[in-house]
Amino acid sequence: DEETQQEAIRAAAEAVADRLEAEKEYLTELDSAIGDADHGSNLARGFRAAADAVKDDTESTPQELVKKMGVTLISKVGGASGPLYGGSIMSASQTLDDGVTAETSVAFAEAYLEKVKDRGDAQLGAKTMVDALTPAVHTYKKSIEVDDLPPLTALAKSTAAAERGVEFTVPIRAQKGRASYLGWRSVGHQDPGATSTWFIMQELLSVADD
Ligand code: ADP
Ligand code: MG
Ligand code: MG
Repeated sequence: DEETQQEAIRAAAEAVADRLEAEKEYLTELDSAIGDADHGSNLARGFRAAADAVKDDTESTPQELVKKMGVTLISKVGGASGPLYGGSIMSASQTLDDGVTAETSVAFAEAYLEKVKDRGDAQLGAKTMVDALTPAVHTYKKSIEVDDLPPLTALAKSTAAAERGVEFTVPIRAQKGRASYLGWRSVGHQDPGATSTWFIMQELLSVADD
């Protein structure tokens, strides 16, 4: 029911905020190699604020909670990742009119990917979060709609696909964002945004498993 969904959203927000806090230095280290060394602090700060924003909110619907997290991320995270994460979560929340079900979760994932691509204008292979997100979303959709797998199994496969997407960012040249300023020198480095996307998915999976 709705209360269970609200509880799951708050638990997921908390788990993601904790994980990004724990990975803050690692993400910043990745961003220092090909960016401006702020991805870890950007995301740790933003997702903590997003989790706090929904923590004691028992009034909002599941859709409103997700939207609120997006709005909070936009206001707390500067840089490229704020509008990409926050704006896309906010916009994709429109798919959650009927709450979070297997069906709406596929619609949410697709809308989120579309928004990120739309806002960032990054195609697959530009060495961005899109490289983790695309295989993750495609695998999730196919697992549910074609293979008829339970959402938890679909999410596990999707998270594994995101990990392969992260690995794919290493040997390619950045074509969007700060890393693109490095040109060929970006080759050999793992993209911070793809990495944080994968960490977030791991946390969604572990909360869904509970
Ligand atoms: P900034 O680069 O402004 O300091 P962050 O360090 O927080 O912002 O985020 C950097 C990450 O944002 C990159 O690793 C990449 O995954 C993602 N990113 C940057 N530009 C784009 C873009 N145009 N489209 C998609 N993702 C992008
Ligand atoms: Mg940065
Ligand atoms: Mg920055």
